[in-house]
Formats: sequence, C-alpha cells, structure tokens
Amino acid sequence: MSVAEKTLSQQAIDLENKYGAHNYHPLPVVLSRGEGVFVWDVDGKKYYDFLSAYSAVNQGHCHPRIVGAMAEQAQKLTLTSRAFYNDVLGTYEKYASEYFNFDKLLPMNTGAEAVETALKICRRWAYEKKGIAENEAQIIVCENNFHGRTTTIISFSNDPVARKNFGPYTHGFIKIEYDNLVALENALKSNSNIAGFLVEPIQGEAGVYVPSDGYLKAAKALCEQYNVLFIADEVQTGIARTGRLLATCGNCSCEHKDCSGTPEVKPDILILGKALSGGAYPVSAVLANDPIMNVITPGSHGSTFGGNPIAGAVAMAALDVVKEEALAENADRLGELFRSELNKYIENSSICKLVRGRGLLNAVVINDSEESDTAWNICLRLRDNGLLAKPTHGNIIRFAPPLVMNESQLLDCVSIITKTLQEFE
Ligand SMILES: *Cc1c(COP(=O)(O)O)cnc(C)c1O
Repeated sequence: MSVAEKTLSQQAIDLENKYGAHNYHPLPVVLSRGEGVFVWDVDGKKYYDFLSAYSAVNQGHCHPRIVGAMAEQAQKLTLTSRAFYNDVLGTYEKYASEYFNFDKLLPMNTGAEAVETALKICRRWAYEKKGIAENEAQIIVCENNFHGRTTTIISFSNDPVARKNFGPYTHGFIKIEYDNLVALENALKSNSNIAGFLVEPIQGEAGVYVPSDGYLKAAKALCEQYNVLFIADEVQTGIARTGRLLATCGNCSCEHKDCSGTPEVKPDILILGKALSGGAYPVSAVLANDPIMNVITPGSHGSTFGGNPIAGAVAMAALDVVKEEALAENADRLGELFRSELNKYIENSSICKLVRGRGLLNAVVINDSEESDTAWNICLRLRDNGLLAKPTHGNIIRFAPPLVMNESQLLDCVSIITKTLQEFE
C-alpha cells in the first residue's frame, strides 16, 4: 500500500468521523466497488464479503439483472407517491403476493418501517376483529430480539445500548424468553388481550441463535389456539438466506424448485426487507391474507416512497434472481459444507468454541469474554487476509456471504478463516 493510497482511505474515514454522526463503529476498510461475492477497497484490494450488508446483498453485489431493472425504471418514472396509481406497483404486488403465497402486500422501504407496519396491522386486527378493548392490546416479543431502531421498536428491545436515554418507551409489549414454549403458553394463558406474537425465526443480530426443532411450528399452533397473530420478522432470515426461501418456509405452495426445506410454518403476517431488493434499493414489505390486511384503510397508514416504481421493478428482479439462480438450494448446500469444514477445525481449536446457523447465516463463538476485543482483532486480521466480517455482541462473528457464492470460493473462504483463527490460537 503506497502512502498516497493509504491517504485515500484515511481521508474517507476522517470525513465520516468529522461530518457524520457516530452511530456506527465500522471496521476500518473503505469500499468503492462490488461484484458478486467480492468487494474492493479504494486501494484496489479485493475481499470476500462475508456480511452481505447484514443479508441485504443475498443476490451478490451489483447483480446485472437487478441493476439493469433499476436503471431502466429510473429513466422512465421514479416516484409518483400513492396519491396516484403507477403502472409498476400492482404488477409487483401481484408478483410478490403469489411468490410468497399471500393475498396482499403492503409496500414500505426499510425493515423497521415494515415491522412498525406489522405492529399497526396487528393492533387494528385486535380491536376490529378479535374484539380487544381499545388501547388494551398486547404483543408478545422475545428477549434479545432485533427488529430495528424506531422508538417503538427499541421500547421492546433489551439491548441497553439501543435503549439508553431514548425513553419514554411505547407500552403494549410483553417480553418472553426466545425458544421457550412454556413461557409463550403462560403469556398467552394469563392475558386475554394478546394480539400477536412477533418473532425472528432465527435471531440474527443477537448472534445467530437457531431455536430448537419444532419451536416455530409449536409456537404457531399456540397462537392459533389463543387466536393470536403469528408475526414472522424475516427481514434478515428471508429470501433464501437460511437455505429456504423463508426460514419459516410454511405450507407455502410457491413450488420453487429451490425451496428445498421441510415446510414448517405459514405466518399470519410476514415481514420482509433487506434482500427483497438485492441490496440495490431500500425495499420492505408486509404480507398477509385479506381478513388481516383489510383492516388497513385509506389514510390509516402510508409512506411517500413506499411502493414507488423503482422499488417494484428492483424487487421483482431481485426475487426472479433468487428463483432462477436457485439461491436457497445453494445456500443450503454451501451452509452444510461451511459448518462441517469449520467443525473439523474447531475440534482442535481453543480460540473458537462453536459454529452454528442455517444455510449461509452462520456465526462462530470466540472463546473469550463479550468485553474482550479478540473477535474484533480476528475481524481485522480476516480483513488483512481478504475477507470481511464483523463481530456481533463482542465475542460472536457472523458469517453471511452473498448466496451466489460457489463451492470453490467457499472452500477458499474456509481456508482464509481457519488460517486466520490459527494465528490466534
Ligand atoms: C435489519 C433488521 C431489521 C431492520 O431493518 P432496517 O432496514 O435496518 O430498518 C428488522 N428486523 C430484522 C430481523 C433485521 O435483521
């Protein structure tokens, strides 16, 4: 790295530090280009991307099909607001509703907005369909959840960093332990004002916690028994990431040839974001069937950019790519390979305790305290060795590459990771 080149990345970092709010703590690498599973920094150094923008770039960086759809639509019509109809939105809503086997879709932009939307739909349903007295509805959530950053969402988070000094908090949420059916049943039994159960099929931000087999199915059955909506936040786990189209991949009759998982659960409300656009554009959505979605009436909810024509064109292309390139199948197969290869290494490792995950959403737990900077230092060394990943919660490193990876690239990455871990043994 020459002095002049070094200056280039330091300049970019300095600008962000001086003029940007300090709401993130990025790994020091300044990226300027991406293609498929790779990104390049301003010095031209190439890396495997093992974060995929928190699973937004499942289809790979700058997928030509997605970028093409975006460019084409951008030259025709970008935004009308929902004050008028546009000629893309209905086509997209039909496409995505059929794709995920729901009656209707409500378009938003970010994941947090889609979660907020789902909560509003759930509350309305509680008052207008279930008959709960106004302002009494409660929604059950899980400990260590991550659903976004709005004031309501952080109100039911238990991450002190996300909450501190942002109160007063929104009421109406009951927190129970994740992956605990007894806790869920007790909460449902003891309160007749429960409207919904909001859950991540795998807790991604918390550190890729995979619940016990059968948990989601049994939780859905309990929700049915108590007439409570099962709301799946698949913003991170959805769109092929976990080796299925959805981590809950329900009795969905989507007939995707790449949808290879065992059918498990069909949520009452499905929340999608991130890879819904292949990382090209902020696109999120809430899907539900008519008896639920019809509680939303003109004026009761909206977004200036939600459902804009670029978003519709981008999302259709992004979902096409998932199907045509059989990304769920690929994630399933490469995920098995990744965990089995890392497990071989872990047998004789003292620095790395375990690898867990589904499909290509995985994490390794580093054998050190949450407060230690070992995982951070490993990520710095991984960067030096050509692979980008980021710790989550101190001692956990999430590994989530784009799903367009092939087997030899994955094995190459396994050798970078094990070689790097070796340096810390
Ligand atoms: C990222 C994420 C969100 C929030 O999405 P944003 O687009 O960042 O608002 C919500 N839920 C889950 C599970 C996520 O991973």
